[in-house]
Amino acid sequence: MHEEVWFEDIEQFLICPRKYSLEKEYRNRQDILSEQETREMMRLGFSVEKPILSTELFGLNLVSDPQAAVPDGDKWKIVLRKTAKSFKNKYIIEAAFHGYVFSSAGYIVSQILIDSPHFTRQIDWRDGLTRLFALIENIAELKTQDLPEPKPVSQCKTCPHVLSCTDVLVKKQDLLAIHGLKDKTRIRLIEDGIDSLTALIQTKEFKNISKESLEKIKKKAVALIEKREIVLSEYQELPDGVFLDIESHANRNFDYLFGILLDESYIPFLSENEEQEQTVFAKVITFLDQTDGPIYHYCPYEPARFSSLSERWPEFRSSVLKIKKRFVDIYQILCKHIALPLFTYSLKSVARLYDFRWRTNLDGLRASRYFQLWLSTHDESYLKTVLDYNEDDTRATKMIWERLNSLRNN
Ligand code: SF4
Repeated sequence: MHEEVWFEDIEQFLICPRKYSLEKEYRNRQDILSEQETREMMRLGFSVEKPILSTELFGLNLVSDPQAAVPDGDKWKIVLRKTAKSFKNKYIIEAAFHGYVFSSAGYIVSQILIDSPHFTRQIDWRDGLTRLFALIENIAELKTQDLPEPKPVSQCKTCPHVLSCTDVLVKKQDLLAIHGLKDKTRIRLIEDGIDSLTALIQTKEFKNISKESLEKIKKKAVALIEKREIVLSEYQELPDGVFLDIESHANRNFDYLFGILLDESYIPFLSENEEQEQTVFAKVITFLDQTDGPIYHYCPYEPARFSSLSERWPEFRSSVLKIKKRFVDIYQILCKHIALPLFTYSLKSVARLYDFRWRTNLDGLRASRYFQLWLSTHDESYLKTVLDYNEDDTRATKMIWERLNSLRNN
């Protein structure tokens, strides 16, 4: 049996071939129709929702599952439904993928239609064939090769493999393991012969980098090699406060969930649609006003959302100004004062380092999809998953806050 490759596998391969390889055996897909049922419905000339067809290429079984196949004379129009606001270049490869599988399975494809609420576009699926074949060939070659090496990408922030990838980079003595080291600086270091973590640690000075910055990246290299945290500079004790995490809808312009952790209680403020957002935001402000101390968050997203909401509703401006003075970004404190044995300091990565376990496998985008599923189906299990995810984000932030205080006190 050939290994299956679906288009989402190709998307994953494009982002990180290593993650694609690590996870290919665990993918779990639920087909609505079988290939045989698809063929039967197409033979009868029906439009088919979620058709499934497959074909073999370079020893792999390509499985196409577009949103719909619609009769178009004696040909077929394939529909790819999207929610994106604008056209993305990857749709050209996606169109080539589905067009190629359908054609190879014996159906003439007249056009591929990209259908989003924001735009509609027809694509000639042959345009992306050369690129598609090159990608499939690369994926097929993975079978005969070692696991691809880690290359930090933005997906690492939420990736469960971040600890093992850090280990690989550190074993290779790769400067890519140093969090926050700019590409330009890394290349200059390598050009100057400082091409390993050990060589970096032994460096006394380096042109274009201040002594202070050099000391900081050297300590980061030590933290990685010795697998421990190093305090880079002193900081104040972080007093008790509340922990805030906001979830925004990926395709509609509203923040659907404000999750607050106060002591050990998690309090969610939920909007079901854009119309409710103003009332819910008012409740969040009233609630926060009744609390004391800093409002901890991770990364600048929460203050940015408060600013944007107060621009939309000027009546909240003075309250938001007051609340924003209480915001404290745990991520900023961590980056400034602590060297960690990690190449990314994202919330998910740092919390994983401290053995925190999320109860769900969501990220912000998937949480938004689950929220949308709850709105469409009213299946409470979707909402519970989203709330668990958001609550865990606030608890993970709190756990890092506790760790910062204990590192300081020790
Ligand atoms: S941590 Fe990053 S490099 Fe490693 S598998 Fe995940 S996405 Fe790829």
